[in-house]
Amino acid sequence: MTTAAPDQLRAAGLKVTPGRVALLSALDEFPHSKAETLCRAIQTSRPEMSIQSVHNVLADLSAAGLIRRIEPAGFSALYERRVNDNHHHVVCSGCGAIEDVDRVQGAAPCLSPRDTSGFIIDTAEVTFWGFCPACE
Ligand SMILES: [Zn+2]
Ligand SMILES: [Zn+2]
Repeated sequence: MTTAAPDQLRAAGLKVTPGRVALLSALDEFPHSKAETLCRAIQTSRPEMSIQSVHNVLADLSAAGLIRRIEPAGFSALYERRVNDNHHHVVCSGCGAIEDVDRVQGAAPCLSPRDTSGFIIDTAEVTFWGFCPACE
């Protein structure tokens, strides 16, 4: 369950605007979408939102921590509302379908490198690649 978009915006100290609400709702429906897809998705209800304003809103929402941006190799930036749980993604090498994968083990970071070069690790971002049921 995601929090209602206006409440979430207010809690993050952001002004509630129709564009921001529309994009958060579109992300509920189409998680792991790129800006162009989201722009098309909100076009019917918010025709005034250009691709540039969609990019701006996505940048604001990411900066406020309301959405997460992922960039699997070969993809444009993709956005989703599921944040702060350090989940990973599995990507289909055939059709590009993307699904969430829960943490591999325990609390974040769920993977511990043997040598961290002195870094203190707090998250791990893993992309698993393979073939989805439709492509295998
Ligand atoms: Zn596939
Ligand atoms: Zn995800």
